[in-house]
Amino acid sequence: MGIIMSGKEIANEIKEEIKSYVNTTKKTLNKSPKIVSILVGNDGGSIYYQNFQQRLAEQLNIDFEKIILNETILEEDLISLIKKLNFDKNIDGIILLLPLPKHINEKIITNIISVEKDIDCLSEASVGRFYKGEKSFLPCTPNSVITLLKAYKVPLEGANVVIVGRSNIVGKPLFQMFLNENSTVTICHSKTKNLKKITQTADILVLAIGKPKFIDGEYIKEGAVIIDVGTSNVNGKITGDVDFEDVIEKAAMVTPVPGGVGALTTTLLFKNACEGLK
Ligand code: NAP
Repeated sequence: MGIIMSGKEIANEIKEEIKSYVNTTKKTLNKSPKIVSILVGNDGGSIYYQNFQQRLAEQLNIDFEKIILNETILEEDLISLIKKLNFDKNIDGIILLLPLPKHINEKIITNIISVEKDIDCLSEASVGRFYKGEKSFLPCTPNSVITLLKAYKVPLEGANVVIVGRSNIVGKPLFQMFLNENSTVTICHSKTKNLKKITQTADILVLAIGKPKFIDGEYIKEGAVIIDVGTSNVNGKITGDVDFEDVIEKAAMVTPVPGGVGALTTTLLFKNACEGLK
């Protein structure tokens, strides 16, 4: 029976580190890190997420400004606002909630966010720096995966890692982050042949597919570490890509859904704002 890797517990430890950092900067510099979160329109998921961010900021004593803009805002007005925030020395991080309304070009807008404040790693400049190994903030979901593995002391160097899913927000950046850790990485997708044969070779198997309970015990090697990034809504319940009950019998460690990878992402986003570019 494998160990359940608790993203919640690791998030709580990181929250304590952030709180102590914020208290120190308050005492020494008389300033808290400040994050601005921009929501355009009234997408339900984004409203929920922005409120969640606000509660987390309160918990961590981080200054947080919520900007909510009418969905009819002109693209040029949004550009002006972001440029103003870029130049505001009191702001450490800018979060732009996606999706944007259809009349606004997401690529143009995300590229306006300055690299120094792009804590969600959205702009092409940030992404380019990330892949070139230059200073950039780390994308939060892949960073959650690596942070969890390190917290549970899973050896990454030389490990055979298989990632299923090749999206720009999860699979591809994660491939790069595992390479940076000297793992040997294979990435699979919907056109991969003999998927099961490949996943069975993994010391660490990461699933980012979006297909509830797609991976059962047959897909894994005895003693493997299984990271489930998937979150699908099944009858109102958040469900991962892994058949948890089946897999935990055979795996060494498994992340739960919810309470695994997803429990860490916003905390790491806020940690980015505290640390600045390194
Ligand atoms: P996505 O853009 O839809 O990508 C899904 C990937 O899975 C694609 O590369 C696709 O292959 C691959 N795939 C689909 N069916 C497959 C199959 N039968 N066999 C092998 N590969 C298959 O999704 P995403 O944005 O990366 O998100 C993936 C999941 O993670 C979703 O459930 C999402 O909600 C969740 N997620 C969670 C967090 C979190 O914080 N926990 C953050 C982000 C995303 P092709 O490229 O060939 O189409």
